[in-house]
Amino acid sequence: MRKRRKDLFGNNRIFTFSLMVLFCMILIQCSVEDRQNAEEKRSELIQPAKWWEKLPRPIYATLKKVETSQKWFEVYKLTEDTYAIYEPYQFEEAISYLVIGKERAAVIDTGTGIGDLKQAASELTDLPVSVVNTHTHWDHIGNNYQFKEIACFNNPDCFKKLSAGVDNARLKKSVTGDSLWNPLPEEFDPDTWKIPPVEPTTLLEEGNLIELGERTLEVIYTPGHSPGSICLLDRKNRILFTGDTFFPGPLYAYPEDVNIDDYMASIKKLKKRLDEYDYLCSGHNDPWVKSEVISRVDDAFQEIMAGGGKYKEGNGIRRYYFDGFDILIRADMIKNKKT
Ligand SMILES: [Zn+2]
Repeated sequence: MRKRRKDLFGNNRIFTFSLMVLFCMILIQCSVEDRQNAEEKRSELIQPAKWWEKLPRPIYATLKKVETSQKWFEVYKLTEDTYAIYEPYQFEEAISYLVIGKERAAVIDTGTGIGDLKQAASELTDLPVSVVNTHTHWDHIGNNYQFKEIACFNNPDCFKKLSAGVDNARLKKSVTGDSLWNPLPEEFDPDTWKIPPVEPTTLLEEGNLIELGERTLEVIYTPGHSPGSICLLDRKNRILFTGDTFFPGPLYAYPEDVNIDDYMASIKKLKKRLDEYDYLCSGHNDPWVKSEVISRVDDAFQEIMAGGGKYKEGNGIRRYYFDGFDILIRADMIKNKKT
């Protein structure tokens, strides 16, 4: 009879092998759980559970609400001829703006495409309305297809995204689960929802002036959040429409198409022109923000890059907390960090 061979510790080999397998399984399980925990933490940083419990944001109580037939939107009158068209029920809290001159009007961004923006605009002005896109992320171009005249910055990324449109698979997750806290409009079908491709009719350059009749919007090129991002300066009313270059938050400085050096340079560019505007009309969350925040965003980026700032981290993403805004950034984007 063959004698069972024993290992160094005096155990038989089958027993030792079983122990090793069990140990490996525990290690694998722990690493899967670690990854799941990190991913859950990351998701919570980007989209906190029950995010809508913070609504309405305090600023809205100070603004004049205007009724339209389009209940998906809340519409606020910011100045005599400026309206914020806000989508509070979906996580993006997208805001489009109707800017009315003496001869024509512009919608700055067109939201998610869930509501009928053209109808809402037509109830606020009789003038012809054209679109000016601050950039071409899906939640800013949803209703572009409803309008004949569409302007975007002269950047390949802009027309590539506009001409591609956005398919249902990409969009549908934006109206499922916790992304939504109020019913969608009855006529809206999430199963067939697409953002149709469009072609821009006007390509904008730095310094271009968009004439609306006794009201002008100046194009300020502010790449960083996306390659073709612009802000629009209404000098007469001292308002800066920022798109996603600034919004309270959190500011998205983490997605793949963000160029953090460009983003920081764009904030500095806006800071140099602070004497030309008093309020920011931002692309999400809050339509009326005092312009001084731009200076503090510049300071915040400097602090982050020097290894400072309070943050939480999940799976490579950090959410930094500042007074009145947050910044989401990838940990690997941070240079000179102390840790
Ligand atoms: Zn964006």
